[in-house]
Amino acid sequence: MKTYILSMALATTVLASYGGAGNETAGKNNLAYNVEQFADLQILRYDVPGFEELSLNQKELIYYLSEAALAGRDILFDQNGKYNLAIRRMLEAVYTQYEGDRNDPEFRELEVYLKRVWFSNGIHHHYGMEKFVPGFSENFLRTQVNKLDASLLPLSGEESVETFCSLIFPVIFDPRVMPKRVNQADGEDLVLTSACSYYDGVTQQEAEAFYQALKDPEDQTPISYGLNSRLVKKDGKIQEEVWKVGGLYTAAIEQIVGWLEKAEGVAENGAQRAVISTLIAYYRSGDLKTFDDYSILWVHDLDSRIDFINGFTETYGDPLGMKASWESLVNFKDQEATKRTELISANAQWFEDHSPVDSRFKKEEVKGVSAKVITAAVLAGDLYPATAIGINLPNADWIRSRHGSKSVTIGNITDAYNKAARGNGFHEEFVYSDTEKQLIDTYGDLTGNLHTDLHECLGHGSGKLLPGVDPDALKAYGSTIEETRADLFGLYYLADPKLVELGLTPNDEAYKAEYYSFLMNGLMTQLVRIEPGNEVEEAHMRNRQLIARWVYEKGAADRVVEMVTQEGKTYVVIHDYQKLRQLFGELLAEIQRIKSTGDYDEARALVENYAVKVDPQLHAEILERYHKLRLSPYKGFVNPRYEAVRNASGEVTDVKVSYDEGFAEQMLRYSRDYSFLPTRNP
Ligand code: ZN
Repeated sequence: MKTYILSMALATTVLASYGGAGNETAGKNNLAYNVEQFADLQILRYDVPGFEELSLNQKELIYYLSEAALAGRDILFDQNGKYNLAIRRMLEAVYTQYEGDRNDPEFRELEVYLKRVWFSNGIHHHYGMEKFVPGFSENFLRTQVNKLDASLLPLSGEESVETFCSLIFPVIFDPRVMPKRVNQADGEDLVLTSACSYYDGVTQQEAEAFYQALKDPEDQTPISYGLNSRLVKKDGKIQEEVWKVGGLYTAAIEQIVGWLEKAEGVAENGAQRAVISTLIAYYRSGDLKTFDDYSILWVHDLDSRIDFINGFTETYGDPLGMKASWESLVNFKDQEATKRTELISANAQWFEDHSPVDSRFKKEEVKGVSAKVITAAVLAGDLYPATAIGINLPNADWIRSRHGSKSVTIGNITDAYNKAARGNGFHEEFVYSDTEKQLIDTYGDLTGNLHTDLHECLGHGSGKLLPGVDPDALKAYGSTIEETRADLFGLYYLADPKLVELGLTPNDEAYKAEYYSFLMNGLMTQLVRIEPGNEVEEAHMRNRQLIARWVYEKGAADRVVEMVTQEGKTYVVIHDYQKLRQLFGELLAEIQRIKSTGDYDEARALVENYAVKVDPQLHAEILERYHKLRLSPYKGFVNPRYEAVRNASGEVTDVKVSYDEGFAEQMLRYSRDYSFLPTRNP
């Protein structure tokens, strides 16, 4: 499970010149955090403080793991839609071979479109899920494609350019074809109406029935059914095509395995070596039992400085929440900042015992919630370029309750967001008064980080399912309810005197900064991420709106939270912070009950009533105010570049890190060096 950046305040300022900073050399203390801006996106850069101080062995390990990370890039493109690789490769050919005026408006629109495809790992918005609307004409593209040497196009076998275009162009230009990557609209067939490639030729009902039949309600240690495969109907028979060596995506997975083998050779210790070798075994067999073995070894590997995720991990991209997108993150522990999260996890049992949920749903013994602050070294797959700031894994409920989970906050990414956002005018526009602004200026960074820590190390790790409850019982509402639960746990405890006692917050007022930001975001400002006329779709956004709207409504009689209008502008005002905390506690108790008992009907009612609908008038107002600030609602990052320095006999003698790559430059390099999958996977 993941946490994304919570506050819209971290939207960054527009660049002085459009796209001009890409090749700026980043000095050590003067990193150019802003790289470029296009569409609704801002590209940032992050640095990797502490890398130079690692041992050669550790640097070498990071290098191999980062190669293993980049090797999987194509997998996600294909998972996000079966024509994504073809479209990306075709556009890259046009983009690099184009000989006309690069300032031609149609060419510039094509460039923006391609950058959006790179950013989203496909043709749908990475967050809103809707298909991009190209700003160039079909005619323009056809002309450019026809000018290309056919060998540069991702044609399949004997396919002609004409046939290729007639297959691919409607996918780009026809709004009726594959309109959404993940459709969550209640009442529709979510499988048939979603463009992601996790299912082919099966209906939602068939997919659900297929997995229902595999499940044994008595099984106390169930595998994560369907996690690493596409479900297809072939010759009238429904079957899984497993992503493994020798299976679907084998060409990319073989590369990943090759780099993991090198990593295994320079592992820091035996525990880490076992993690890597078990992951390799899983990639070879595709056996989800081995994946569980790997996850358990990974949870228990706490002493290694370097750590990584590499695999089919999160299920947000599947409308049914079963199939995992591929991602990777290579990182090392920030030892100083980790003292904060260690303090939280050392007190995990206290937090569990004192939470406002029914004792039947609490863990008697909170096991091994380990938490650390990490420095990201490379982001890949579903964590690139847009990334989470907090991650808690593994996702299997039984492993979490028996073996615990590992929770991380990514320090250098949060830091890059904060640095890039200074003084961008967002608070001046949306925060009610100087009182709230001052709270946020003084405590906002601190309590924002703490909320992420609490969400990840305690929130996701807390509570338990009643015996016999199917972990997938909440179906399409599962992700939203889980994120709601974790956020509420964090919100509830941010205001607890225990945090002051532990020295995590400086006084009994600091939490107000996060309470205010959270409600302002959930009630108003996160709407800047939504196109007019659309509803809230993404799980984390739904969760924030659910919480904010629910407490707003339940506290209305006591005027806990109000929305006031001054000179045509709407503001959130919190009158009673303690009462608000109480409401967070009440909702947490209810959400935990829903999760623990698998109450699908209530999950659906809460999400549909509070989390989905948008007030069109308020939405229009927020968008107008936001657009005047010229900020980008979404951010992503370019990675640093690692280069192995070798001696005459080929041994690695050093690993150099550099921060000077531009966005398009990086994407084209990745496409050149890490394109392992065929354009159309069978
Ligand atoms: Zn989360």
